[in-house]
Order: sequence, then C-alpha cells, then structure tokens
Amino acid sequence: MVKHHWQSHNVKQSGLDDMVLLSKISESSIVDNLKKRYMDDQIFTYIGPVLVSVNPFKQMTYFTDREVELYQGSAAYENPPHIYALADDMYRNMMIDMENQCVIISGESGAGKTVAAKFIMSYISKVSGGGDRVQHVKEIILKSNPLLEAFGNAKTVRNNNSSRFGKYFEIQFSRGGEPDGGKISNFLLEKSRVVFQNPNERNFHIFYQMLTGAPSELKEQLGTASPDYFYYLNQSGCYSVDGTNDAEEFSETMEAMQVIGLTPDEQHYVLQITASVLHIGNISFIENGNYAAVENQDYLAYPSYLLGVSQDALRQKLTSRVMDSKWGGKSESIDVTLNVEQASSTRDALAKALHSRLFDFLVQSVNTAIRKDYDEFNIGVLDIYGFEIFQRNGFEQFCINFVNEKLQQIFIELTLKAEQEEYVQEGIRWTPIDYFNNKIVCDLIESQAPVGVMCVLDDTCATMHAVNEGADQKFLGKLCGAVSSHEHFQSFSAGFIIHHYAGKVSYDVDNFCEKNKDVLFKDLVELMQQSEFDFIRSLFPENTNTQKRPTTASSKIKTQCNILVSTLMKCSPHYIRCIKPNESKKPHDWEESRVKHQVEYLGLKENVRVRRAGFAYRRPFHKFLQRYAILTPETWPRWHGDERQGIQHLMSCVNMDPDQWQCGKTKLFVKNPESLFLLEETRDRKY
Ligand code: ADP
Ligand code: MG
Repeated sequence: MVKHHWQSHNVKQSGLDDMVLLSKISESSIVDNLKKRYMDDQIFTYIGPVLVSVNPFKQMTYFTDREVELYQGSAAYENPPHIYALADDMYRNMMIDMENQCVIISGESGAGKTVAAKFIMSYISKVSGGGDRVQHVKEIILKSNPLLEAFGNAKTVRNNNSSRFGKYFEIQFSRGGEPDGGKISNFLLEKSRVVFQNPNERNFHIFYQMLTGAPSELKEQLGTASPDYFYYLNQSGCYSVDGTNDAEEFSETMEAMQVIGLTPDEQHYVLQITASVLHIGNISFIENGNYAAVENQDYLAYPSYLLGVSQDALRQKLTSRVMDSKWGGKSESIDVTLNVEQASSTRDALAKALHSRLFDFLVQSVNTAIRKDYDEFNIGVLDIYGFEIFQRNGFEQFCINFVNEKLQQIFIELTLKAEQEEYVQEGIRWTPIDYFNNKIVCDLIESQAPVGVMCVLDDTCATMHAVNEGADQKFLGKLCGAVSSHEHFQSFSAGFIIHHYAGKVSYDVDNFCEKNKDVLFKDLVELMQQSEFDFIRSLFPENTNTQKRPTTASSKIKTQCNILVSTLMKCSPHYIRCIKPNESKKPHDWEESRVKHQVEYLGLKENVRVRRAGFAYRRPFHKFLQRYAILTPETWPRWHGDERQGIQHLMSCVNMDPDQWQCGKTKLFVKNPESLFLLEETRDRKY
C-alpha cells in the first residue's frame, strides 16, 4: 500500500517536496519553497535525487525508530523527503546493483553536514543485521565520531562543534549487506588552531575535556590547571561552549578510545601528549643580545617530563637549529642560534606536530580496528568542511576552498555535464541548459601546464632558503607574472583574488610559503626520536638523513584530493546540499539573503532546470525489463525478443503517455517521476 505524508508524518503538506515540480524555476522560487517548508519544520526537500537539507537548529521529531521503520525499503515518493530515504536508497542500490555508493555532503560551516553524516551512519547501522564481529564494527564506526571530534573539532564563531578536518568514511559491507569493515581517510586538519584561536573561538575540544574531566590523580600527574593558565588556550578568552559539558564528553572520549582498542597505556600516552602540548605553549622567550633565551626555565620541566626528553635538549632545540652548509664541496653542520620570533615558531611547530600526529594515530587506530583486507561493497560518506570566506583569508582557506572547488567539479561532472552528455550519447531529443563549469577555476589552482597557483607556490618554496624573508612577496610576484591574465584571477599589494564558483575570495599571501613547506625541522624530529617513550618515538618514524625534498602541503592536498575524486567517480553518487538559514543559530530564523546566496552558489537552480528539462529516470533496457516484466504476461518472466520492442510493448500495456518517455541507444528515459510511481504501484499489487 502506498503511504502518504499526512498518514505517516501527520503533518500538512508545506511547499513542494520535490522542486523539480516548481511551476517557475528561479532562485527566489527555490528560496520561497525552502522557507515555507522550513517554517513548517520540514527541513528536507528534493531536487530529484538530490537532498536539500536546511539546518533547523532544534531537535526535529522525525528521527525516531518509527521513521527508520517507515523509510526502510520504501520508494522515495511514498514518504516525505528524508535523509533516511536517501540512506536507504544507497543501501538498497548497493545491494541490488552491486555497486559502490557514495554521498557527498556539502555546505558551509554550520550548515549541518556532520549531523547529516551521523544520521546516515546510524541509519545504516540500524537497518543492517550482523553477528558479533559486525556489531563490534558498528560500535566502532559510531564511536569514532566523538573520538575524532574531540581531537579535530572546535568551537568557532560559526559553529560550536565545527569540524576542523575533512573526512571520507567508507563503510564496507559483506555480500549479505552487513557492515563488516571500514576505512577513514582524513584531510587537512587545521593545526594552526593548536597554537592560536581567534576571539570567541576555542582550541580543539580535547584540551578542555581533559582539564575538566580527568580524574584528579591523573590531573596532578599531567600538571593540568584551569584553561586560563595555558597560553594556547587563553589567547581567545573563550573557555566554555553553551550546551556542552566538557567533563562528560571526556568520559565519552575515553570510552571511545577503549572501544577502538587502545590499551590503557596507549590511552595514557594520548593524554600525556595532549597535556605536553599545553605545557609547551607556556614556554616563552626573551631577547638575550640578538638571540632567544627561555624566559623561565621552570616551564621546561613539565613538557620535558611528559615528552621524555631532557630539559637541556628541549631548551637547546627550541633556541637553536643545526644548519647544513656546504663549503667548497664539503658539507658541514653548524649550530645557528634563533631569535625570539624563530624560537616561538619552532615551539609552535612542535606543538602542532604533536597534536596532528596524535590525530593521525587515532585515525589509524580506528582503521586498524575495522580494517577488512578484501573489498566487497562500500558506502562512502564525505563530510568535508565547506567553502570559507573571511575578512582575512590565508593558506588554510585557500586549501579548503580548493577542495570545495573540486567537489563542485564532481557535482557538475556527474550531474549536470554527465546528464547532458548522456542525452547526446543516447540520441535523446532535448534542449541544452547553460551552466557555469568551474573546471577553469580548478585549473587556475592546480594545473601544471600552464602553471597554476600551486605550482608557482611550490616553485617558490623549492628555491627558498632558511632565511626566507620576502618569500611570500616573491611568490606573489611570480604568480602575477604567470596567471595575471586569467579571468578568474586578480592581484593586489598583499595578495590575490580568486573568483571561485562560490564567490570572490581575496587571499593574503602572508605565510603562504612557510605553511606550504610545512616541514618540521630535523632538529625537532630528532629530539622526539630521543624520547624515552616508545609511543612518542613511534609518532616520528621518519628518517632525517634523506636528502629527498619533503612534499609540500599544497601538493599533498592536491594528491589527496585527486585520489578522493577518483574514488568518488567510481561510485554511484548521492548528494546532500546543506543550507545554513541564519547566523544566529536559532530555530525559525530565516535570513533571506544568506539563503539566496547559498542557493546560488550551490547551483540549485541549474540543478532543477537540468533535472526538469531532462528525464528523471533512466535505466538500461534490460534492467527496466527485469524490474517491470511482471506487468505483462508477454514479458514475464523474461522478454525474449528485441529489448526495445519489449519496452514498447510494456509501455503500451500500461498506457504510458508517449510524451513521457523515450528510448535512447541503450537506455530508457522517463520524464516525470510520477509516471513511474504508477508502474511501481501496479508492480507492488502484482507481487
Ligand atoms: P557542519 O558540519 O556543516 O559545519 P554541523 O553538522 O556541525 O555543521 O551542525 C552545526 C550545528 O547545527 C549542530 O551542532 C547542531 O546543533 C545543529 N544542527 C545541524 N543539523 C541539525 C539537525 N538535522 N537537527 C538539529 N540540529 C542540527
Ligand atoms: Mg562539520
């Protein structure tokens, strides 16, 4: 039986469920429709198979087991739009078509991406069965969230629980559809946050969790104090988050470590390193002649104790650096003394390295716990931070926005371009739609020939020496020479502007070279390799004697991003477009112009137009015949003649309006999804 909204949700119909059915397609009609629904507490809306989700900033009633039940195995049109419907569709497609699936969740910071990702994972966990091993995998998958959030999320001005890293979570399944493995790939942890936060923002949650939640004996051992004692926490003047109990979350974090299989010793080291980071931050320097000296030796005690290195070695490595120099073909090492600024940045580099390597360790631990060596099917969930445009944008924003530009490219490739190309290929009659293809912007950033921004940056870094004053300006100069004529590029005295698909962003080149080089000085690596603790040594496995030039941050991102893109391209894609309706984080607050801007840059209008001008449904002939064979005696159980004729026969038997469908070369295309509902219902009745 077909269930309808008013029966299942007990709500009135507000706006249109699927914006493909809008009578007038414009940005404002899309915004109006979303608003109507939002005000009626309907946060989900479709554009064909794409799910649009508007952050309600309050708990909605429709995420109970009842809905899990309702959306299981039902067709999209039977129930109101819901993220469970999308999750169910992925799961079922994977099983029926035996194809990997992925969902790309996009939207700006605070739009609801991470919450959406969690809904998907919990839905899949609920509807799939499995024995003990599978239950264990499910538990790890769910528990990995609070764990990685503790170390990788923070309060920002835009989101109290903002993910400061991106992640692609692949849930692996057995042939029977049981989640029996998984793999996380993480991207671009914002490590600068370890040493600095803007006003009203916090460092990563774990620091506050540990300071409030750790048992007192442990606190004593780690030398904890209130957050305002630590330089890495007191710069922003923000210590607590509304509605968050750091102490309680500490227990959850520790429980998660347990679940993913960290030994009590490992758990202890994790906290020990976390505490050492805070203590490192309290080491300050004063000027002694032209050189830096540690201001107060007492502050060396805790970090050296926690890291298992001598105070002397720590002091020395923070205030000087070994440089290799070549004299007449002979290479020689000399100790160079650092000035205050250099010493502080060396200290910060150590803190950032410790935290980010700890984070990688945790991700790896989760992966080890759920690794499966043979791949059957998987569903991947991509939750990566959205486009960022601030007053001042630096290297981090540049990288984040590049990744988003690439994701938009996949969206265009797979939905807009691929859709239209398929019509051409299949010889389907239709009118082409214009859309902006952002490949040109991706090329501006990543292309090798002609050189793009990342290439110029790497080149500048390669020729840069230890003393790198002016490197950023040199980069800017080279960049202007190389790409100034590009229509999406402009420069100004302190930086450059890129016209991204989501808008113009001006980047300040300050520190671009330093951040791109991203090297941890050999001295610091060697210092950590001297630690008395195996665990700490294991975080620094690199060989410092190789002459290989280390990979730069931007080339690493480019590589990671391209691996991700090729993984995604091999899956059947699904999309969730998250929209943030306001900056107040309050329910029912609708800032029209903000929503409009997001609707614009997410390309929702083009999405509706392409979807509508085109055909909502397409299936290879044989798959269609297989599914609907039961509708006529001649096609059941198998059509023996020409497939195209089989479809003709089937369609005329069910009286399908000839305007509604066309046969291409290999696939059947059906315009309006409603026409299919009819087939589905008839099919259901026959079974
Ligand atoms: P993003 O990952 O896009 O930056 P989040 O998923 O962290 O954003 O969402 C930010 C906040 O908005 C959440 O912490 C939560 O308070 C609220 N939120 C988001 N989606 C929902 C939802 N579906 N229901 C209730 N609150 C939500
Ligand atoms: Mg997030």
